[in-house]
Amino acid sequence: MEKFITDVLIIGGGLAGERAAVEAAMRGHNVTVLSLIPARRSHSCAAQGGMQAALGNTAKAEGDNIDVHFADTIKGSDWGADQDRVRLFVEAMPWVVRQMDHWGIPWNRVVPGKFTYFNKGQKLEAEDKKEKEGLITQRDFGGVSFWRCAYTADGTGHTLLYTMDSVAAKYGVKVHDRLEVLSLIHDGTNCLGAVARDLRNGTLRAYLAKATVIATGGFGRIYGKSTNAIQNEGTGCVIAMDTGKVPLGNMEAVQFHPTAVVPVWILVTEGCRGDGGYLLDKNDHRFMVDYEPAKQELASRDVVSRRMMQHIRKGLGVDSPYGPHLWLDIRHLGKQHLETKLREVLDICKYFVGVDVITQKIPVLPTQHYSMGGVRTNIDCAVYGLRGLYAAGEAGCWDMHGFNRLGGNSLAETLVTGWIAGSKLSEFIKNEFDVSFSDKVIEEAVAKQQARIDRLVNTKDGNESVYALRTEMENVLLDKVHIFRNGPALEEAVKQLRDLLNRAKKLKLNSDGKWANPEVALALKLPGMIRLALCITYGALKRTESRGSHYREDFPARDDVNWLSRTLAYWKNPDDELPTFEYEKPVITELPPGSRGYGESKVISADKNEGGKK
Ligand SMILES: Cc1cc2nc3c(=O)[nH]c(=O)nc-3n(C[C@H](O)[C@H](O)[C@H](O)COP(=O)(O)OP(=O)(O)OC[C@H]3O[C@@H](n4cnc5c(N)ncnc54)[C@H](O)[C@@H]3O)c2cc1C
Repeated sequence: MEKFITDVLIIGGGLAGERAAVEAAMRGHNVTVLSLIPARRSHSCAAQGGMQAALGNTAKAEGDNIDVHFADTIKGSDWGADQDRVRLFVEAMPWVVRQMDHWGIPWNRVVPGKFTYFNKGQKLEAEDKKEKEGLITQRDFGGVSFWRCAYTADGTGHTLLYTMDSVAAKYGVKVHDRLEVLSLIHDGTNCLGAVARDLRNGTLRAYLAKATVIATGGFGRIYGKSTNAIQNEGTGCVIAMDTGKVPLGNMEAVQFHPTAVVPVWILVTEGCRGDGGYLLDKNDHRFMVDYEPAKQELASRDVVSRRMMQHIRKGLGVDSPYGPHLWLDIRHLGKQHLETKLREVLDICKYFVGVDVITQKIPVLPTQHYSMGGVRTNIDCAVYGLRGLYAAGEAGCWDMHGFNRLGGNSLAETLVTGWIAGSKLSEFIKNEFDVSFSDKVIEEAVAKQQARIDRLVNTKDGNESVYALRTEMENVLLDKVHIFRNGPALEEAVKQLRDLLNRAKKLKLNSDGKWANPEVALALKLPGMIRLALCITYGALKRTESRGSHYREDFPARDDVNWLSRTLAYWKNPDDELPTFEYEKPVITELPPGSRGYGESKVISADKNEGGKK
């Protein structure tokens, strides 16, 4: 077993991980980043539309400020977010965008003069002022009051991640890739690092660190059909949960994005609708105008996705061999706009489904997209339950998104939480770190993972295929824990997932487990993925209300009397078949619970002095 010693260990080389790494390195620490893949290929690179910051530069952003950004985000979250985090976030974002500018992001800029844009189906005109020339410009997005989304065409994640990776190299951050972390090393009180498996040769390594950050991104791929990169399988949540000490927050809050391309499920950005794109049904009718007259296509994602599925249920979807879908129409934006500001969308549609977006409509359907839930942290990004452990980005539940994230608020969150985690862990190392590393704890942690591998490879009496079980898990989530949920379906899903968890103890591998072996890699992950699926499903069953993306057909109202709360899911013992739940109230500092102003908006209001029972 190889042993590596570092001050700071970052698990994940996406935007959040690399931003945390840069901050820690700038503060003088030795930093090692672990990643499944070369850091620049992390999922962050796929982000298209942009990131939100109240800059107010373009004419369509005049009047915007951080208070409006705050209110939009809280309404978007359906009052599930911690308001102290959101306040910190909106105040940071203007300088975060400018810092990224300073580090090299080629933001789209204000060009003075008249420009046309589309709003609610009308072609309108506005004028950018001469004195704003060259400032960072912004586009419209869902659930916001002003154009607030800073962007680099539709390749914002690409430019951000490549830039961040260059800055990380400049500060001497080491990246070890093609490594998969299997578990944390901890003594029950302190996190001491992680055990990782080299995906090239199957050997185990121990990484020892004074502070560790989980920045492994979302868990979308457990849904099978997802806009997420294939490595987004939630292992960061699993390693935290497996300590038995660390809770996952709000796992039932899963976001479905309205416009994934059918049938490849690759995203086309909300920027398409932000720039004026329409959703059409089989009669080429703009149905969102009927359902959501105020926001139309630019209501928040949970609302638009639900409206789309309601419309399809009425028989107004377009028939296809893959089931009914709806259309996204961006033809009217014009060739020049599409070839410059939405050029990745143009390429994706051309190369993956043979659609020319200049002349043809795009087939779309709501698809799993984002994990609001994750490893629960405090405002310093320090994880509940273990000292020296932090979480940042989509893997974390810091929680500024509550039950629905607004588009463009996630790239932004990776940078804010990466910055906070990097600076707070530095303070921890300098002022509080007082642990000596125990050989026994380290060796036991590695031996436990080696025993799992040996057992998998040597078991001859198993009868279950790891691939078949994974597909069954995906289908349970797709069929029963999707946009519309109800009690009987969720109960059935819990039963099926428990059964899968037991069957996953009897895996039979077809390979010998040596070298770069994807079957072993999946076999090591699958039980954890099923446990995550159970946290989502059982949490959704228990939450007898509808809030943001969590919609219960049998409990359609948001119930602030009983459910103005965040779910904390613990997996206390390895043999448990269900998570144990605790609940905590979201921090409400400024904006008391109220109506979002869009969506179904049925609210059972709590006494404002009590703020809910749970
Ligand atoms: C198609 C798409 C477009 C999007 N567009 C936007 C947008 O325009 N604006 C916006 O705000 N948000 C957008 N989002 C959301 C946003 O891109 C993500 O939330 C964000 O990039 C997540 O960054 P991250 O650093 O947390 O994780 P990721 O970028 O997913 O990085 C995770 C890292 O963890 C590593 N990793 C995972 N598991 C392990 C393990 N077990 N061991 C070692 N390493 C591991 C991976 O290798 C990777 O390096 C989009 C999402 C999608 C799916």
